[in-house]
Amino acid sequence: MSDVSHQSRMAAKKAVMDAKIAKATEERGVLILLKGNGKGKSSSAFGTMARSAGHGMKCAVIQFIKGRSETGEYKFFKEHPLIDWNVMGHGFTWETQNKEQDIAAAQKAWKLAEQMLQDESIHMLVFDELSYMFKYGYLDVEPVVEALKNRPKHQNVIITGRTMAVPLQDIADTISIVQDERHAFRLGVKAQKGIEF
Ligand code: ATP
Ligand code: MG
Repeated sequence: MSDVSHQSRMAAKKAVMDAKIAKATEERGVLILLKGNGKGKSSSAFGTMARSAGHGMKCAVIQFIKGRSETGEYKFFKEHPLIDWNVMGHGFTWETQNKEQDIAAAQKAWKLAEQMLQDESIHMLVFDELSYMFKYGYLDVEPVVEALKNRPKHQNVIITGRTMAVPLQDIADTISIVQDERHAFRLGVKAQKGIEF
């Protein structure tokens, strides 16, 4: 392609982008859902949270399912003065095999989440694996939807989980599907420190 045609194509692209940017004028917090079977949901959520914290915004995390005990992200963020990190679940359901205990843990975690959703001072909330709570019937989705709708206007919320409840999708601003095309695990690579946890 000649330099001139490249330049005119880029100018046309810029005009389209500028028009789109001019149209997006609203300033408010967004609800982001990160779903799908591929790798990259939680790490994307924590990466975005780092972005917020970098700008001096107060952030909070609730992990509804406790996977490994001391993940790298937990070790890294727990000492940060702007980040309130809470690991609430007892373990994976197929490991704990105790429904009553899981429901109690889910409800305790939700109580904390509800308080955070009313806290004006928190700019960024990450609810990691919240979606499993609905899938397994540990929490009802309606009160969660109501609390999300009534949260402070500037508050951003990111929810991760392989599947997402439809009522959450109905009120979300951004939904990304992380698709599983290939994963090293299926090539026989074990879960690695610094990559998986
Ligand atoms: P990450 O925390 O790396 O961003 P994730 O949040 O998208 O991953 P989860 O569904 O929460 O993924 O799964 C947690 C763990 O399982 C991670 O350690 C991840 O690497 C691994 N994992 C994610 N997707 C797959 C997959 N398709 N096959 C095998 N393991 C996976
Ligand atoms: Mg995850």
